[in-house]
Parts: sequence; C-alpha cells; structure tokens
Amino acid sequence: MQYQVIKSKRKTMAIVIKPDGMVVIRAPLKTTTKNISELINKYQHWIERKLSQINNIQKHNTELYFLGRAYQLEMLEDKFSNVELGINTIKSYADSIEEHKIKLIDWYKSQAKLLVMPLLDKYQKLLALKSQSIKITTAKGRWGSCNSKGNLCFSYRVAMLPEFVIEYIVIHELCHLRHLNHSSLFWELVASTYPQYKSAEKWLKTHRYILANLFI
Ligand SMILES: [Zn+2]
Repeated sequence: MQYQVIKSKRKTMAIVIKPDGMVVIRAPLKTTTKNISELINKYQHWIERKLSQINNIQKHNTELYFLGRAYQLEMLEDKFSNVELGINTIKSYADSIEEHKIKLIDWYKSQAKLLVMPLLDKYQKLLALKSQSIKITTAKGRWGSCNSKGNLCFSYRVAMLPEFVIEYIVIHELCHLRHLNHSSLFWELVASTYPQYKSAEKWLKTHRYILANLFI
C-alpha cells in the first residue's frame, strides 16, 4: 500500500484518505517508521474497505452532457455532497453511488430550471399563452409534457441539451397549451414560432443513444 506521511506539531496520528484514493498519515514530529507501520497494520481493514469503495465509485465514472457538450464525470468520495462544473469535468462529491446520483440529479434540476424559466417567460408573452404550473421532474423517458389542465413538466435532463434544443422543447410544450395534439395546426404553430425546430429534432435524434445511456 502506498501512502504519504506528513509530520507536524500535532499530538496524535491520523489516517486520512483523500477523494482520489491517496492515503495520508498525519503524525507528530517524533513519530518513527515503526509507529507508522503499526498504525497501518491496525487499520488495514478499514483502509482497504475505504479504498475499495473509492475504486467502486471510480469504475462508474463516465461522461455526462451539459448544454449539449460532453463532460467527464468525476465521482469523488466525500461525506459532504456537492457538484462542481469545471471546464471539461463535472465533479461530484458524495459517499456512495446512490448519493452521487441524487446529488447530480438535484444539480441538473436546478440548472434545468435556470435554463427553462427565462425561455418560458419569453415565449409565453410572445404566444400570449399561460401555463397553470411549471415543474422540473426526474422523468428520464421524456423531455417535457403538457396536460389538459395546462400544467407543464420538463425533465431535469433538458439541461443536457444545447440551448437551441431546450428552446425548441419549451416552445413545443407551450404550443400544446393551444393544441393538445400533434396535428398540422400544432406543427404550424411550432414552425412559425421557431423555424429551426427541425434541426433541434435532428440533434435529439442523432444523440438519442448517447443520452439514453448516461449515468443519470
Ligand atoms: Zn408533443
């Protein structure tokens, strides 16, 4: 087992396992190599268990999409959950795979809300339509929905799409407030509001397989 020893003015020894699996021994200045190997022997099972947990999480590391771009998902072990968007990575901190999923979905939900709300405002005014309620859901199978009561739902996964596709999805659902079907009148309204809707549909079609196989 590889580990790093950091000696400092402290009274007791401690084993710290970093999110990337690095084992660090913090020890008082007078600590000997024998003291350290005794400590490691004593806690070997605990260290191994921790490292295998981290290993298990790392195995699930994969790609995610945000605003139409692929990001490397890095899941790091931490008891404080958090999600950080980097230039090419989405870092998730949590202490189990389930917790990573929950936190990532929460993060996508709040991003989806930020992206969808201004578009709804804009197009509700433009089309003189008003929804009864708007919800960001954890639905995985559909991007959005509209019911006869005028309630609109959008999946947290819309935040994975490029902005021009999110715009199309918002318009698509809003147009259902007038036509609750996919009739030619419905498509005429979509096309006149958003002439480039076909390229958005095409994007969804070409990315369908990738998007369906993401971690969340
Ligand atoms: Zn529809």
